[in-house]
Amino acid sequence: MRPILPILFVPCLLAQSFTVSPETRDAVRQLIGDTILNSQAYAYDQHLADSIGPRLTGSANYTRAADWAVQKFKALGLSNVHTEDWTIPATWEPEVPAVGRILKPVEHQLHIYSLGWSPSTPREGVEGQVVHVASLAPADLDAQKSRLTGAIAFLDQSSFGEKPTFYKTMAGVDRLLSFAPLALFYPGGANGTENLSTLTFGTLAAVPEAQIGREDVSLLRRLLQTGPVTARFSFTNGIRVNVQVPNVIAEIPGRELPNEVVIVAAHLDSWQPGTGAQDDGTGVAGVLEVARAIRNLNRAPRRTIRFILFGGEEQGLLGSAAYARQHAPDLPSVDAILVTDGGSQPANGWFVMGHEDEKTSLAALKPLLAGLGGDQASLDTAFLLSSDHAPFNVLGVPTLVLSTEREKYFALHHKASDTFDSVVQKDLTQGAAVIAVTAYAIADSQDPFAKHLSPAEVQSLLEKTGSIEQYNFLKKSGVMP
Ligand SMILES: [Zn+2]
Repeated sequence: MRPILPILFVPCLLAQSFTVSPETRDAVRQLIGDTILNSQAYAYDQHLADSIGPRLTGSANYTRAADWAVQKFKALGLSNVHTEDWTIPATWEPEVPAVGRILKPVEHQLHIYSLGWSPSTPREGVEGQVVHVASLAPADLDAQKSRLTGAIAFLDQSSFGEKPTFYKTMAGVDRLLSFAPLALFYPGGANGTENLSTLTFGTLAAVPEAQIGREDVSLLRRLLQTGPVTARFSFTNGIRVNVQVPNVIAEIPGRELPNEVVIVAAHLDSWQPGTGAQDDGTGVAGVLEVARAIRNLNRAPRRTIRFILFGGEEQGLLGSAAYARQHAPDLPSVDAILVTDGGSQPANGWFVMGHEDEKTSLAALKPLLAGLGGDQASLDTAFLLSSDHAPFNVLGVPTLVLSTEREKYFALHHKASDTFDSVVQKDLTQGAAVIAVTAYAIADSQDPFAKHLSPAEVQSLLEKTGSIEQYNFLKKSGVMP
């Protein structure tokens, strides 16, 4: 007679290892065929980039994109299609493009842009002495205090020596702003290539902030070595405050465990004047394509797959953080979140964002993903806090971020050149297939994919990866849950 205890123990031991059943494998085979042969991802991205265009968070174009995504999900036959609003403190859209000149010691027209979420300049523009800021260390800033008041502070990051961490940059800028400068200049990309960002989490910056072309930055630096420099610039931005922004949500309900969820997500917002075709149009197109293909299988996985398109990613993960905060009590039932935000370059697999057991589980998917070239699992945590997975990861949810070749992506990222002509159809199709296979196999497995991290384990992950300072800053700023 078999003792009872070992029988009770067996399922617990089995639950430790993630497996793929023959039925799942059959369904995945069909899924790969459909995603490769019938992919709509390229067409979805073309519509988003060319017919809707840039999608600044909370803008009219963003709303059009959200409406379009809702209609698409409904037309694909998904369930529970809806939007969930969160509030952004301010929206920002350029109205009158920036113009600017060096006035002294030589007249020179600048390649200049308003930084994201900068207020407009006064109508007559900002005119002042340009003061070179070559260090953000508190003592160095304090030594320049009297010169910075009423001046245009030129934050010359390439003079900083060791690149300051995000946290140190933010702290340095805060200290500098307390000296009441007129405006800030930041170095940008090559002259004529706008490269947008913001450091204010959806609130308006305290003073006008402009970005200067790389070659103009070099000229400024040379002129400042020989004597005082005066500059003038102006721009007008459209600002609205406290605007409701929708995240778009849709589901394929699980056939056996509908209350357990696998999330597949990307961000709907983008920068301008590029059209966000790669960042993150390809991600949105991938999410829609995965929804189309899995719905088309007519074999729902065991668990629910929830598709989410977040807003406000570019202003500091605002939409995903709002979602994670609001749904925190339900997150223990989220088996994994899969995020795609790396453009249409070939996907080689997944970043597991510090969850080592995910790497073991992904090994079970190797036979399904190897033929697509997407079977790598990377423990690299360089992007731990840098896209919509982060608010979930810090609450312990197993996290996967699609790993793509980054080089081409970063050449376009946040620039005017992020347009549809740079999207490679075959790479976008392959990436969507990798996401579809991974999401379906995780949602259809008998076993949980990976362990949720406890708060102590999250803390240790953040410390081990050198991310704790940045996390604490984001949490203090009210961004991270
Ligand atoms: Zn992005």
